[in-house]
Amino acid sequence: MKDCIFCKIINKEIPTEFLYEDDLSVAFRDIHPIAPVHVLVIPKKHIASVTELKNEDEPIVGRLIMAAKKIAEDLGVSEKGYKLLFRVGEDGGQEVGHVHLHLIGGARLSEDIHPLE
Ligand code: AMP
Ligand code: ZN
Repeated sequence: MKDCIFCKIINKEIPTEFLYEDDLSVAFRDIHPIAPVHVLVIPKKHIASVTELKNEDEPIVGRLIMAAKKIAEDLGVSEKGYKLLFRVGEDGGQEVGHVHLHLIGGARLSEDIHPLE
């Protein structure tokens, strides 16, 4: 996808250090971390949003979660726990139109999700 920032990261047009890579996914640190550990795990295939997932994408979604599990272990946050988060669409607050799983941890995290209006 030409103008997708995460596709550019995958294609190395935007130099970014990968914490993890396999045939279906890559992971890198979020540029604006909200916790000591904040990693994005993304599919190599451009999929705009969870709403755009097709049945054939099921192995990709499974892989994102398995990759996050491994990265959490590698970064030492597995035992204390973490959050895994997909933002979806406007109400979900999704800003980048390429599916990404947030792995957020390294601190006790607030549960403060509330309607804005
Ligand atoms: P979301 O709001 O769920 O769409 O999350 C998008 C995330 O991508 C935000 O947390 C941004 O900080 C992060 N982000 C945007 N551009 C980059 C980049 N070039 N490298 C790493 N993270 C990025
Ligand atoms: Zn993309």
